Amino acid sequence: MIRETNSKIEARHLKGNAYLYVRQSTLRQVFENQESTKRQYALRQRAVVLGWPLERIIVVDSDLGQSAASSSDREGFQRLVTEVSMGRAGIVMGLEVSRLARNSTDWHRLLEICALAGTLILDEDGIYDPAHFNDRLLLGLKGTMSEAELHVMRARLRGGILNKARRAELEMRLPIGFVYDADKHARLDPDKRIQDTLHLLFKTFRRTGSAMATVKAFREQKLQFPRRVYRGPNKGEIIWGELDHSRVLWVLHHPRYAGVFCFGRTRQRKHPDGRHTCQRLPREEWTAYIPDSHAGYITAAELDENNRRLRDNAYALGAEREKGPPREGPALLQGLAICAVCGERMTVRYHAINGRRVPDYACQRRGIESGKPPCQMIHGGGIDDAIGKLLVETVTPVTLEVALTVQKELELRVDETDRLRRKEVESAQYEAELARRRYMKVDPDNRMVADTLEADWNAKLRALGEAQDRAEQRRQADRGLDKEQRAHILALATDFPRLWNDPRTPDRERKRMARLLVDDVTLLKADVISLQIRFKGGATRTLSVPLPRPAWMTRQTSPDVVAAIDRLLDDHTDDEIASLLNERGMTSGTGKRFRGHMVARIRDEYGLKDLHSRLRARGYLDEGQIAKRLHVKPCTIKIWRRAGLLKAHRYNDKGECLFDRPGADAPLKYKHQDKTRGKVSASS
Ligand SMILES: [Zn+2]
Repeated sequence: MIRETNSKIEARHLKGNAYLYVRQSTLRQVFENQESTKRQYALRQRAVVLGWPLERIIVVDSDLGQSAASSSDREGFQRLVTEVSMGRAGIVMGLEVSRLARNSTDWHRLLEICALAGTLILDEDGIYDPAHFNDRLLLGLKGTMSEAELHVMRARLRGGILNKARRAELEMRLPIGFVYDADKHARLDPDKRIQDTLHLLFKTFRRTGSAMATVKAFREQKLQFPRRVYRGPNKGEIIWGELDHSRVLWVLHHPRYAGVFCFGRTRQRKHPDGRHTCQRLPREEWTAYIPDSHAGYITAAELDENNRRLRDNAYALGAEREKGPPREGPALLQGLAICAVCGERMTVRYHAINGRRVPDYACQRRGIESGKPPCQMIHGGGIDDAIGKLLVETVTPVTLEVALTVQKELELRVDETDRLRRKEVESAQYEAELARRRYMKVDPDNRMVADTLEADWNAKLRALGEAQDRAEQRRQADRGLDKEQRAHILALATDFPRLWNDPRTPDRERKRMARLLVDDVTLLKADVISLQIRFKGGATRTLSVPLPRPAWMTRQTSPDVVAAIDRLLDDHTDDEIASLLNERGMTSGTGKRFRGHMVARIRDEYGLKDLHSRLRARGYLDEGQIAKRLHVKPCTIKIWRRAGLLKAHRYNDKGECLFDRPGADAPLKYKHQDKTRGKVSASS
């Protein structure tokens, strides 16, 4: 046997180098499989025995630690191919040599090059000359078998995984908050801090109903969230850091927190250009969904409820970033408002004023991830009114007709640009085809050239894909009005102002009309709010709306009311003034009917003198003073007033009075005692 194999080695082979290809696919194999590494290096001894000097035996082992699914990311294999094609290799050696290349294409290419370059191949079984038909057949078979073996191994592995998953027995990486016990059952992490943090997260979401609010609550309380390290030297350790929005969503969506074992929630896809994408599957398509598999932090019902709430929130906030169908709620520019600062679509929030829902337009896309304040936040009430007025003014049958004509022209132009874009795609297609043909025609001897051409072909294919995507995107963006929409707009025109102002027209309809007429509205808040309205058909209008007065200002008492109170205070008490104002139909800053205490508060706020000090300023006397003047006791004054003997003026609503200066007709000390109190006269 040895004699026969040796006969294949000729002087020209010995002139070339011997390449020992050492391949281990993963780091783990490198460590665990030292045995095979030893065998691989033993091949070097064989090369020496066969006649290669030690210094011309070159070990190619740069693939150590790399996976070998394809040759493209394996430098060592590429180098080997290059060396062979340059005619520098006399022999290529490897343990189970067919595994040099893990896929058939690579392997056959190597065989072909070896045959052309007159390079021998050696493995533990013997020496082969790929130029000989028999040897080549054998080597080809070996390659095919090794690929088949790989396939079977993979399938078996995958099948085993799936079977285990269906029985919920598959050991998978557990989300934070769970650990495996000695029996490989998932259970809550015994670390109390981790457990409590997760419980708190679910509790906060239950309370606030929003992932964003949960992030904020954690940040306000300076709470941290655990994360397990899966790679690197600190593998397995727990790191505590800030909680962010995507992490909350991930936890809330993860079925394991409800004690549900699940597998196959996503599908990985590999694209021809090497990109990987990950697609989320609906629950029906998961490989496994097994409730009550282990202890959880919430119930399965709560998991569903959380999912539902998150979905609803997404409709209210996230999804609204795209121009969507009109939803309930009065905000006219929902889905039409664009932030002039950053160009993002603005979302709508509502707040209530006197029971009415008033929209705010907010640009908060950037704020959502980090919990920062939104970039622009604009009170929408005035804006909606201004837009409504503008639409009623501008929309007449004539303007609409013009707009539609312009729109039609634009669509024609779009068709033209579309044709150009199709040209771009076509030429990219042609280029790619050309590159492909160049590659197919190349002399297989000339691997360097072939590799360059292959790379070129790949680049051309990528360019083609990009051109196609670009064309499709633009086509979507430029799509004009269809027939139905056009008819709708014309129908509107005949009766637009009436329809718009009719209080029975629902908000949804008003919004629908707005988006039939308007493409978008760009909002900028500065000293005033500037609106740039882009109508369908390309016309634009600019409006400016004054900033809404701050809340305290809108609640302010009107100057008329203050002036009226000031006048009435000359003669009236607070209660009297309140009823007089109500009679005149005046209301408070918040639109309420006046009460005495409200008048008193306004009096204080605006520094108006009260009735008492006004009367005193006019010379009215208090009880003590008039008693002194008339030489009687204050209680006598009270009696005299009740009897109507003194002219008194009420200065408050408790009935307390001030008195006119006593004139000539003032009652005298004893003169009236008989009339009022008989007993007094007896004593005199
Ligand atoms: Zn913005």
